[in-house]
Order: sequence, then structure tokens, then C-alpha cells
Amino acid sequence: MNVPFLSFEPQHAPLRGAIADAFARVYDSYWYILGEEVKQFEQEYAAFNHVAHTVGVANGLDALVLALRVLGVGPGDEVIVPSNTYIATWLAVTQVGATPVGVEPELATSNLDPALIAAAITPRTRAIMPVHLYGQACRMTEIMDIAAEYNLYVVEDNAQSQGAVFDGGITGSFGHVNGTSFYPGKNLGALGDAGAVTTNNDDLAQKVRILHNYGSQKKYYNEVVGYNSRLDELQAAVLRVKLPELAEWSRQRQQVAAWYNQYLVDIADLRLPAVAAGATHVYHLYVVHTPHRDALQQHLTEQGIGTLIHYPIPPHQQQAYQDLQLPVGHFPIAEELATTCLSLPMWPGMNEEHVAAVAAAMQSFSLR
Ligand SMILES: *Cc1c(COP(=O)(O)O)cnc(C)c1O
Repeated sequence: MNVPFLSFEPQHAPLRGAIADAFARVYDSYWYILGEEVKQFEQEYAAFNHVAHTVGVANGLDALVLALRVLGVGPGDEVIVPSNTYIATWLAVTQVGATPVGVEPELATSNLDPALIAAAITPRTRAIMPVHLYGQACRMTEIMDIAAEYNLYVVEDNAQSQGAVFDGGITGSFGHVNGTSFYPGKNLGALGDAGAVTTNNDDLAQKVRILHNYGSQKKYYNEVVGYNSRLDELQAAVLRVKLPELAEWSRQRQQVAAWYNQYLVDIADLRLPAVAAGATHVYHLYVVHTPHRDALQQHLTEQGIGTLIHYPIPPHQQQAYQDLQLPVGHFPIAEELATTCLSLPMWPGMNEEHVAAVAAAMQSFSLR
């Protein structure tokens, strides 16, 4: 049995009619930018995410850039970021002119280690950006306490973890201003690029609203040098159809993870994802670790099992960041995770037979 890394079919086929209706609604409205769909989606997503405000933007990277901008983070400032995140987290810091300062994750969860944050704080540090990597909530209670102690802002990168919870709080609602992504493959995905800023702060929400729309509240009156980073009416209409399904899709992802945990338990040299006490995991990705990663991936490909690597090169080793001059070995945990991680197929609608097929292919590798 072939198992693709990702199939949209079980999510999208049943919604075909509803999404076509949403497209028709936008088409017939004769209003294509910042209209009723964006407005409604922003309210619906704010309710889902337990925040006072959602501002739809063009993509997840822009959401993080706008969050840092409205907090006044800029040149000369440092921002604490995980050493093992997707590059977008680092890029957002660089794009506002600040410097990303990496902090290592915990090996077991791949999430930022709160115990290592204080040592990275300098007089220039302005913010901490926790990333709820792979869909697991970071230990937000400790992170918020450190931020309060050192008078720092928190900007959550919630791109992979819509609906995850830590100690009763939902990700994307802890930080001062937070960003999320609706890139198609994310847990809540549009049919193209899309993202959002979430916050409980009225003033910061209003600043994002102004900045994302040319620095303007009143058409043709520009208060600040803004961006064009708006959520599309069409994408908002699609997201409104998909949002009510998200909780069920997360439940299905958790069921798939539970099957994996059960089927993969006895395989030698294989570390399964751990969930921290107090955290929930919405399994944007199900990531295992093994020293034989490349050979295992090759074997799985030959057996018809799709896998990906998130991520093969940590940000500090990317060519884009060579001017930071962080040598090999600078972030040993991030570097180890990058050489050992493998993401197995994970999508709502996967059934136990799919998981059993992946597990059988994994077992035939370890028995070779
Ligand atoms: C996807 C992602 C982003 C960026 O989102 P885009 O919509 O692709 O710009 C940022 N951070 C993380 C952790 C992501 O996974």
C-alpha cells in the first residue's frame, strides 16, 4: 500500500460544494479586497483562538513581521528564537532590522527549552518568539514568566499549532502579538498564501490593521509607511468553510499519532515524539528521530511511503545567515535534530491501515 506524505483529498472532497458556493458568493459580491468575508473570518478565528482580535494578512511570515513592527522591535534589538525552527521565524526578525538570537530546544519535544532562555538575554533583548513546533504547545507558563521578569515581549509563532493548548491556554493567545499561517499544508490551510495576527491588545491590533493596509485607516490618508499584506476575500471565504472542521481534523491527527505510537513502539534506534506535561499536540507533523535517517527515508520511498525532513538545515547554517558567522557545532541540539528527524505521513482522514503500512515498512527496514 502506498501512503503519500500528505493527501488533501479527505479534507477537501467533502467540502467541494461549500467551497464552490463560497467562491460564487465572493464573485457575485463585486467586492474583492477587505470585504465581508475577511471581516467575518477575523471574528470567527478570534473566537476560535480565544483572543480579542484577529487581523488577516497575506501570509505567516508577514504576520510575524507585522507583530514585531507594532511592538517597535527594530535595528539594534535582539529577539530570542529557537535554534531549530523553520527559517521564517528568523527571517521575520531580520526583516524588521533586528538580530535573531538562537536558543536550543529540548531534545525530547524539539520545543524551546525555557531553562536556556535567561542565559541568552542581553540588554538589547526585546522579545521572545516561541514556536509551537510540529503542533505541540511550548511550555508557555514558564516562557511568559521569564518575559515578565525581564520585561520582554512575547510573539508566538503559531503557524503549526492552531488549537494546541498549554495549561488551559490556547496557542496564539499567550503572547503580546502573535502570528499564524494558513499556508495550504498547515492544520488550517487556505488554497494559497494567507496568514493572521492574533492579539488581546486593542491598540496593537489597530496598529497592525493600519500597517497591513498601506499605513492607512482612511483611504488615501497614509499615517505611517505601511505594507500591502492583506488577507484575500477568496482565501477568507475558503477559511470560513474550513475553520468549523478544524477541531475534528485535529482529533483525527491525534488518533493517527496514537496509532503510530502504538505500532512503532518496538523499533530499535527510533525515538517517537514526546509531549511535555501540560501541553497538547495537534500533530501538524509526526516527527521521529533515528541515527539512520537518510537510509530509512530511502527505504520508505522504495516502499511507497512518503516522508519529508523538517528541517534539514537549521537557520544558523543556512547560506542566508552566513554573516552571523555561527560555526558548525554552535547549536549542537538543533544540528543533531536536523540530521536525525523524519516526518511520517500525517493528514486527517488517514486510517489505521495507512499507519500499519507505514509501520510495516519501518519494521522491514530495521530487520534488513
Ligand atoms: C509555515 C511557517 C511560517 C510561515 O508561514 P507562511 O505562510 O509560509 O509565510 C512561519 N513559521 C513556521 C514555524 C511555519 O511553519
